[in-house]
Amino acid sequence: MSDAPPSLSPLDETWERALCIVAHPDDMEFGAAAAVARWTGQGKQVVYCMVTSGEAGIDGLHPDECRSVREAEQVESARIVGVDEVEFLGLQDGVIEYGVALRRVLAEVVRRHRPEIVVTGNFHDTFGGRNLNQADHIAVGRAVLDAVRDAGNRWIFAEQLTDGLEPWGGVREVWAAGSPLAEHGVDTTDTFEAGVDSLRAHGAYIDGLGWENFDPAEMLEGFGRATGTRMGVTFAAPFEVFPMGWGD
Ligand SMILES: [Zn+2]
Repeated sequence: MSDAPPSLSPLDETWERALCIVAHPDDMEFGAAAAVARWTGQGKQVVYCMVTSGEAGIDGLHPDECRSVREAEQVESARIVGVDEVEFLGLQDGVIEYGVALRRVLAEVVRRHRPEIVVTGNFHDTFGGRNLNQADHIAVGRAVLDAVRDAGNRWIFAEQLTDGLEPWGGVREVWAAGSPLAEHGVDTTDTFEAGVDSLRAHGAYIDGLGWENFDPAEMLEGFGRATGTRMGVTFAAPFEVFPMGWGD
Protein backbone atom coordinates (compact mmCIF):
# COMPACT_ATOMS: atom_id res chain seq x y z
CA MET A 1 0.00 0.00 0.00
CA SER A 2 1.24 3.43 -0.90
CA ASP A 3 -0.04 6.79 0.27
CA ALA A 4 1.18 8.46 -2.92
CA PRO A 5 -1.55 10.35 -4.77
CA PRO A 6 -2.85 8.53 -7.88
CA SER A 7 -1.09 9.01 -11.18
CA LEU A 8 -2.43 11.46 -13.75
CA SER A 9 -3.22 10.74 -17.41
CA PRO A 10 -1.96 13.14 -20.08
CA LEU A 11 -4.60 15.53 -21.44
CA ASP A 12 -5.78 15.26 -25.03
CA GLU A 13 -3.73 17.62 -27.21
CA THR A 14 -5.44 16.90 -30.55
CA TRP A 15 -7.23 20.23 -30.80
CA GLU A 16 -6.66 23.64 -32.39
CA ARG A 17 -8.60 26.22 -30.37
CA ALA A 18 -9.08 26.68 -26.64
CA LEU A 19 -10.88 29.38 -24.68
CA CYS A 20 -9.91 30.00 -21.06
CA ILE A 21 -12.69 31.57 -18.98
CA VAL A 22 -11.74 32.55 -15.42
CA ALA A 23 -13.00 35.00 -12.83
CA HIS A 24 -9.92 37.17 -12.33
CA PRO A 25 -6.62 38.30 -13.79
CA ASP A 26 -3.99 35.99 -12.18
CA ASP A 27 -6.29 32.94 -12.00
CA MET A 28 -4.53 31.30 -14.96
CA GLU A 29 -1.10 32.12 -13.58
CA PHE A 30 -1.21 30.02 -10.42
CA GLY A 31 -0.26 26.87 -12.36
CA ALA A 32 -2.18 26.68 -15.64
CA ALA A 33 -0.21 29.27 -17.61
CA ALA A 34 2.76 26.94 -18.12
CA ALA A 35 0.37 24.48 -19.80
CA VAL A 36 -0.89 27.32 -22.01
CA ALA A 37 2.70 28.11 -22.99
CA ARG A 38 3.15 24.47 -24.00
CA TRP A 39 0.00 24.54 -26.15
CA THR A 40 0.75 27.84 -27.89
CA GLY A 41 4.24 26.44 -28.54
CA GLN A 42 2.54 23.57 -30.38
CA GLY A 43 0.83 26.15 -32.62
CA LYS A 44 -2.55 26.00 -30.92
CA GLN A 45 -4.68 29.12 -30.53
CA VAL A 46 -5.59 30.04 -26.96
CA VAL A 47 -7.78 33.00 -25.99
CA TYR A 48 -8.25 34.34 -22.45
CA CYS A 49 -11.55 35.67 -21.15
CA MET A 50 -11.60 37.39 -17.75
CA VAL A 51 -15.07 37.68 -16.22
CA THR A 52 -13.92 40.56 -14.00
CA SER A 53 -10.87 42.80 -14.13
CA GLY A 54 -9.85 41.85 -10.59
CA GLU A 55 -10.43 45.45 -9.56
CA ALA A 56 -11.19 44.50 -5.94
CA GLY A 57 -7.93 42.60 -5.60
CA ILE A 58 -5.58 45.21 -4.14
CA ASP A 59 -6.45 46.50 -0.69
CA GLY A 60 -4.61 49.80 -1.02
CA LEU A 61 -5.90 50.69 -4.49
CA HIS A 62 -9.40 51.87 -5.33
CA PRO A 63 -11.14 49.73 -7.97
CA ASP A 64 -11.40 52.68 -10.36
CA GLU A 65 -7.61 52.85 -10.53
CA CYS A 66 -6.94 49.18 -9.98
CA ARG A 67 -8.93 48.00 -12.99
CA SER A 68 -6.56 49.33 -15.65
CA VAL A 69 -3.47 48.22 -13.71
CA ARG A 70 -4.68 44.66 -13.49
CA GLU A 71 -5.90 44.53 -17.08
CA ALA A 72 -2.48 45.67 -18.28
CA GLU A 73 -0.73 43.09 -16.11
CA GLN A 74 -2.99 40.35 -17.46
CA VAL A 75 -2.39 41.32 -21.08
CA GLU A 76 1.37 41.18 -20.51
CA SER A 77 1.08 37.93 -18.56
CA ALA A 78 -0.87 36.38 -21.45
CA ARG A 79 1.63 37.62 -24.03
CA ILE A 80 4.43 35.81 -22.17
CA VAL A 81 2.70 32.45 -22.72
CA GLY A 82 1.75 33.14 -26.33
CA VAL A 83 -1.80 34.42 -25.88
CA ASP A 84 -2.51 37.52 -27.98
CA GLU A 85 -6.19 37.95 -27.21
CA VAL A 86 -7.50 38.78 -23.74
CA GLU A 87 -11.12 39.72 -23.33
CA PHE A 88 -12.47 41.45 -20.20
CA LEU A 89 -16.20 41.04 -19.61
CA GLY A 90 -16.34 43.75 -16.95
CA LEU A 91 -18.53 42.07 -14.34
CA GLN A 92 -18.01 43.33 -10.81
CA ASP A 93 -15.15 41.66 -8.98
CA GLY A 94 -16.01 39.79 -5.81
CA VAL A 95 -19.77 39.58 -6.22
CA ILE A 96 -20.23 37.29 -9.23
CA GLU A 97 -23.47 35.35 -8.97
CA TYR A 98 -24.06 31.96 -10.50
CA GLY A 99 -27.24 32.05 -12.54
CA VAL A 100 -28.92 32.54 -15.89
CA ALA A 101 -27.49 36.05 -16.35
CA LEU A 102 -23.93 34.76 -16.07
CA ARG A 103 -24.66 31.75 -18.29
CA ARG A 104 -26.02 34.13 -20.93
CA VAL A 105 -22.86 36.24 -20.95
CA LEU A 106 -20.59 33.19 -21.11
CA ALA A 107 -22.63 31.39 -23.78
CA GLU A 108 -22.20 34.44 -26.02
CA VAL A 109 -18.43 34.30 -25.54
CA VAL A 110 -18.36 30.58 -26.39
CA ARG A 111 -20.47 31.18 -29.51
CA ARG A 112 -18.11 33.89 -30.72
CA HIS A 113 -14.85 32.02 -30.15
CA ARG A 114 -16.05 28.50 -31.14
CA PRO A 115 -13.43 26.61 -29.11
CA GLU A 116 -12.94 22.84 -28.98
CA ILE A 117 -11.66 23.00 -25.40
CA VAL A 118 -12.77 25.38 -22.65
CA VAL A 119 -10.48 25.83 -19.66
CA THR A 120 -11.67 27.25 -16.36
CA GLY A 121 -10.41 27.20 -12.79
CA ASN A 122 -11.18 24.88 -9.91
CA PHE A 123 -14.75 25.53 -8.80
CA HIS A 124 -15.02 23.03 -5.94
CA ASP A 125 -15.57 24.36 -2.43
CA THR A 126 -11.91 23.87 -1.54
CA PHE A 127 -8.54 23.36 -3.19
CA GLY A 128 -8.29 20.10 -1.27
CA GLY A 129 -7.84 20.05 2.47
CA ARG A 130 -9.44 22.99 4.23
CA ASN A 131 -8.34 25.87 2.02
CA LEU A 132 -11.62 27.41 0.96
CA ASN A 133 -12.12 28.39 -2.64
CA GLN A 134 -13.29 31.88 -3.51
CA ALA A 135 -16.92 32.71 -4.34
CA ASP A 136 -16.27 34.12 -7.84
CA HIS A 137 -14.27 31.03 -8.83
CA ILE A 138 -17.11 28.73 -7.79
CA ALA A 139 -19.78 30.76 -9.59
CA VAL A 140 -17.77 31.13 -12.80
CA GLY A 141 -16.71 27.50 -13.09
CA ARG A 142 -20.20 26.17 -12.60
CA ALA A 143 -21.61 28.66 -15.08
CA VAL A 144 -18.92 27.75 -17.64
CA LEU A 145 -20.08 24.12 -17.64
CA ASP A 146 -23.67 25.19 -18.22
CA ALA A 147 -22.86 27.93 -20.73
CA VAL A 148 -20.91 25.50 -22.91
CA ARG A 149 -24.07 23.42 -23.29
CA ASP A 150 -26.27 26.50 -23.65
CA ALA A 151 -24.05 27.71 -26.50
CA GLY A 152 -24.94 24.68 -28.59
CA ASN A 153 -28.71 25.04 -28.21
CA ARG A 154 -30.26 27.54 -30.63
CA TRP A 155 -33.34 27.93 -28.46
CA ILE A 156 -31.39 29.06 -25.40
CA PHE A 157 -30.37 32.73 -25.45
CA ALA A 158 -31.76 32.79 -29.00
CA GLU A 159 -31.68 36.60 -28.99
CA GLN A 160 -27.89 36.36 -29.44
CA LEU A 161 -28.20 34.63 -32.80
CA THR A 162 -28.11 37.70 -35.00
CA ASP A 163 -25.46 39.21 -37.26
CA GLY A 164 -24.11 35.78 -38.17
CA LEU A 165 -23.62 34.48 -34.62
CA GLU A 166 -24.47 30.76 -34.65
CA PRO A 167 -24.93 28.13 -31.95
CA TRP A 168 -21.66 26.35 -31.14
CA GLY A 169 -21.79 22.76 -29.94
CA GLY A 170 -18.19 21.95 -30.74
CA VAL A 171 -16.72 22.04 -27.25
CA ARG A 172 -15.49 18.51 -26.55
CA GLU A 173 -14.35 18.98 -22.97
CA VAL A 174 -14.15 21.54 -20.18
CA TRP A 175 -10.98 21.40 -18.10
CA ALA A 176 -10.82 22.79 -14.57
CA ALA A 177 -7.25 23.77 -13.72
CA GLY A 178 -6.00 23.09 -10.23
CA SER A 179 -8.95 20.94 -9.23
CA PRO A 180 -8.35 18.72 -6.21
CA LEU A 181 -10.23 15.99 -8.13
CA ALA A 182 -7.91 16.17 -11.16
CA GLU A 183 -7.20 12.86 -12.88
CA HIS A 184 -5.33 14.44 -15.80
CA GLY A 185 -2.24 16.56 -16.13
CA VAL A 186 0.01 18.38 -18.57
CA ASP A 187 3.79 18.04 -18.58
CA THR A 188 4.98 21.62 -18.12
CA THR A 189 8.67 20.89 -17.61
CA ASP A 190 9.78 22.69 -20.79
CA THR A 191 7.54 25.73 -20.31
CA PHE A 192 7.78 26.06 -16.55
CA GLU A 193 9.85 29.27 -16.69
CA ALA A 194 7.34 30.99 -18.95
CA GLY A 195 4.70 30.15 -16.39
CA VAL A 196 6.76 31.75 -13.63
CA ASP A 197 7.34 34.85 -15.73
CA SER A 198 3.62 35.10 -16.45
CA LEU A 199 2.90 35.12 -12.71
CA ARG A 200 5.63 37.68 -12.08
CA ALA A 201 3.87 39.94 -14.60
CA HIS A 202 1.20 40.50 -11.93
CA GLY A 203 3.63 42.67 -9.99
CA ALA A 204 1.22 45.24 -8.57
CA TYR A 205 -1.13 42.49 -7.48
CA ILE A 206 1.62 40.44 -5.84
CA ASP A 207 2.95 43.51 -4.03
CA GLY A 208 -0.59 44.29 -2.90
CA LEU A 209 -1.00 40.86 -1.33
CA GLY A 210 1.66 41.86 1.17
CA TRP A 211 2.84 38.26 1.52
CA GLU A 212 6.27 38.43 3.08
CA ASN A 213 9.04 36.77 1.05
CA PHE A 214 6.58 35.56 -1.56
CA ASP A 215 8.51 34.03 -4.43
CA PRO A 216 6.42 33.07 -7.51
CA ALA A 217 9.06 30.58 -8.68
CA GLU A 218 9.21 28.80 -5.35
CA MET A 219 5.46 28.54 -5.05
CA LEU A 220 4.94 27.28 -8.61
CA GLU A 221 7.82 24.82 -8.17
CA GLY A 222 6.08 23.37 -5.14
CA PHE A 223 2.79 22.87 -6.98
CA GLY A 224 4.48 21.79 -10.19
CA ARG A 225 6.77 19.19 -8.66
CA ALA A 226 4.01 17.57 -6.63
CA THR A 227 1.91 17.22 -9.79
CA GLY A 228 4.90 16.24 -11.93
CA THR A 229 5.60 13.31 -9.62
CA ARG A 230 2.16 11.96 -10.49
CA MET A 231 3.10 11.93 -14.20
CA GLY A 232 6.73 10.84 -13.91
CA VAL A 233 8.01 14.25 -15.09
CA THR A 234 9.68 17.20 -13.36
CA PHE A 235 6.80 19.67 -13.50
CA ALA A 236 3.13 19.30 -14.43
CA ALA A 237 -0.21 21.07 -14.04
CA PRO A 238 -3.37 19.20 -12.93
CA PHE A 239 -6.78 19.41 -14.65
CA GLU A 240 -10.18 17.86 -13.99
CA VAL A 241 -11.86 16.83 -17.24
CA PHE A 242 -15.58 17.25 -17.91
CA PRO A 243 -16.61 15.56 -21.20
CA MET A 244 -19.34 17.53 -22.99
CA GLY A 245 -20.63 14.82 -25.31
CA TRP A 246 -22.88 11.91 -24.46
CA GLY A 247 -21.57 8.38 -24.13
CA ASP A 248 -18.01 8.98 -25.16
ZN1 LIG B 1 -9.21 34.47 -8.62
